[in-house]
Amino acid sequence: MVNNMEEFTRNLEKLFEYIIKCPLCGSEIIVSEYKYTIPYYGDILISSGTCPNCKYTYRNIEQLSGGEPRKIIYKVEYPSDVNAIVIKSSHARIEIPELGLIAEPGVYSQGYITTIEGLIVEFIEALNFLCRREELSNVKCIELLQKLEKARNGEIEYTVVIYDYMGISDIISNKTLHEKLEVKENKENLSQ
Ligand SMILES: [Zn+2]
Repeated sequence: MVNNMEEFTRNLEKLFEYIIKCPLCGSEIIVSEYKYTIPYYGDILISSGTCPNCKYTYRNIEQLSGGEPRKIIYKVEYPSDVNAIVIKSSHARIEIPELGLIAEPGVYSQGYITTIEGLIVEFIEALNFLCRREELSNVKCIELLQKLEKARNGEIEYTVVIYDYMGISDIISNKTLHEKLEVKENKENLSQ
């Protein structure tokens, strides 16, 4: 996973930097903006910066050319499948039906680039948080965490489905399937 990700970030072309105020502590964060060209996808802008004071990390991605609302479907069948690069927009909803996992876009959602393994790690972190607060039983926690560890290593089969009405998200692999999404009316996530 790491090699794949390193190779990916080495191909970034830095465009410029700007300063924002940290939403947590008010310190100045230097945000760097990069352009990245993805074959068969197009150009995207990637922004990221970390607060020097509280370590809050700001991340966002934007597509330079407009996308169509779409559903992205990717099946993990082999361990190497978890290395696929995932472009996740802040508006995307992610589902893994076999594992009963859903990540809804929220006010604090960020756009970023990760891998399938990285996505699963985020679900593991979210689950650990719920378990620490005892919102799930111990038995359930252990069972789910074991399942997620297997998913992280690609030892079980599952499907990652991303719903993105902005058409920014993608999973970079020749086995990714794309389906057009019907735009629902009063879709609140579309408000800019
Ligand atoms: Zn801060």
